[in-house]
Amino acid sequence: MSQFLDAKTALEHLRTYQSRDGLSAAELMSSTKHGGLTYNDFLLLPGHIDFPASVVSTESRITRNVVLKTPFMSSPMDTVTETAMAVNMALLGGIGVIHHNQTPEEQAAMVRAVKRHENGFITDPVVLGPTGTVADVLDIKARLGFCGIPITETGALGAKLLGIVTSRDIQFHDPSTPLGDIMTTDLVTAPAGVTLLEANALLRTCKKGKLPIVDDKFRLISLLARSDLLKNQNFPLSSKSPVSKQLYAAAAIGTRDSDRERLKVLVGAGLDIVNVDSSQGNSIYQLEMIKWIKATYPHLEVVAGNVVTREQAAMLIHAGADAIRVGMGSGSICITQEVMAVGRPQATAVHQVAEFASKFGVPVIADGGISNVGHVVKALAMGASAVMMGGLLAGTEEAPGEYFYHEGKRVKAYRGMGSIEAMEQRSVGAKGPPKAAAASKANGVVAVAEKGNAATARYFSETSNVKVAQGVSGDVQDKGSIHKFLPYLHTGLQHSLQDAGQRSVVDLQAGVRSGEVRFELRTASAQVEGGVHGLNSYTKRLFA
Ligand code: GDP
Ligand code: GDP
Ligand code: 5GP
Repeated sequence: MSQFLDAKTALEHLRTYQSRDGLSAAELMSSTKHGGLTYNDFLLLPGHIDFPASVVSTESRITRNVVLKTPFMSSPMDTVTETAMAVNMALLGGIGVIHHNQTPEEQAAMVRAVKRHENGFITDPVVLGPTGTVADVLDIKARLGFCGIPITETGALGAKLLGIVTSRDIQFHDPSTPLGDIMTTDLVTAPAGVTLLEANALLRTCKKGKLPIVDDKFRLISLLARSDLLKNQNFPLSSKSPVSKQLYAAAAIGTRDSDRERLKVLVGAGLDIVNVDSSQGNSIYQLEMIKWIKATYPHLEVVAGNVVTREQAAMLIHAGADAIRVGMGSGSICITQEVMAVGRPQATAVHQVAEFASKFGVPVIADGGISNVGHVVKALAMGASAVMMGGLLAGTEEAPGEYFYHEGKRVKAYRGMGSIEAMEQRSVGAKGPPKAAAASKANGVVAVAEKGNAATARYFSETSNVKVAQGVSGDVQDKGSIHKFLPYLHTGLQHSLQDAGQRSVVDLQAGVRSGEVRFELRTASAQVEGGVHGLNSYTKRLFA
């Protein structure tokens, strides 16, 4: 008789073990007794695969009322998120939070650009009258990026539609030519009350670029653009409002009185999500700001933070937060833990806050310290609903600023919002930060703040005579376009969840809560083993 058990009994035999292999999330957290964990300190154990990676859903609720198809966010930092980052993050299924180290008007223009980028019915189209000129259209094209302009009797929405001008109508004409002379009058229109589905079907068959919607007196009500159908087709993950089909726009504000005025301007531009941006969110200023926002703009989603403990989170949830941003000192440019001696290792911070906030249906955003796909997965496994990235995205084409060469490498400037450089950025009429950074590099001159700015406010430094830095200023390597990089993060996340045997982010989090998803601590030598080792040299290409 064999000394071994019959292989066919392996599954039954497994049941005789007292507990499952590895650790539950709670056991992982308590395993170090009195120490906090970072993402590098643990791994997920693999699960069972019975599905392809391509079916894994990365959909996630990032605030109480906003669900995105991917859990990726870009940081409100002046070297990370301006218009290009915000528009393209949203097209690719994430969301970019526009920074506030600039005037309210500059920030609102960025919000407006995001909201204008894609539409269902364009309910406030730019309209001109027949006496308008080609020069007016060229000006709109330069400012707003489109030139399909309906022409009405008075030049206003709601007046009788006379025609339309598009790029082809104005080509080869003198700028002073009146639009009435060159507009197309042979129009295909749809009646008021038409559904988006019906209007889209008409737009597909009529082969026109624009479909004006008119009432029974032929007055212009709204407009539909063919290019939006293409955008919807080309960006199936895009983050947009289910009703207006406009991209979601998010922006950060501070906690000063003047930020109430700033928010008013941003809401006027169509803001959906506001992030009350503070390095230590549990302050009376932030609590009052959240309460005021919820009372004044009840439909605006409020992301509050940053916090790293349950006690801090409870205060923000009580004040009305719709999501909690977690992280203190874990950012790649950050020296808070070193200088302030305050903060928390990020995996523990995310787990502790998410475990508490989930009881109230408030999602958690893991902010800072994400430097690869693995960190994204671990943040989600610790209970985060989204990850916020600064350094990982700062080297992409869509981040503000120009590339330059540093020691032979193509790089872009990336700086902490608590760096002296960001705190000294003049907030009124500010030049673009990377330009300022490049200029200060070139001539050694740094713009001096008059009254402080968003960065000093974030770090409560505006009333001090001495500015104490909580971040550094540097550069990061070229990462190409986020149109390649974000799909890499997305596909990488799908493959990782497949390895863990989880079909979705939602399943992963349920599995972590039930104890089905298992973890393992990594010793220092396990971390060495888990990295590339023993090679003479190698190249590391992350995706192709
Ligand atoms: P989908 O079927 O997954 O694309 O679901 P959506 O909610 O995105 O789209 C529902 C309908 O609205 C479809 O007929 C889409 O073509 C249409 N749609 C979606 N986005 C846009 C848009 O930005 N503009 C226009 N005009 N139609 C859109
Ligand atoms: P155009 O032919 O130059 O007007 O440009 P496209 O049709 O290629 O693109 C227009 C894009 O701008 C679409 O995504 C529209 O949803 C968006 N858009 C936002 N507001 C307006 C507006 O007031 N008028 C027009 N024509 N497009 C707008
Ligand atoms: P990263 O993705 O580069 O690791 O971290 C980005 C995050 O770091 C930001 O979203 C923000 O929360 C945080 N951060 C940005 N600037 C500073 C700074 O100067 N000091 C500190 N402590 N944190 C910063």
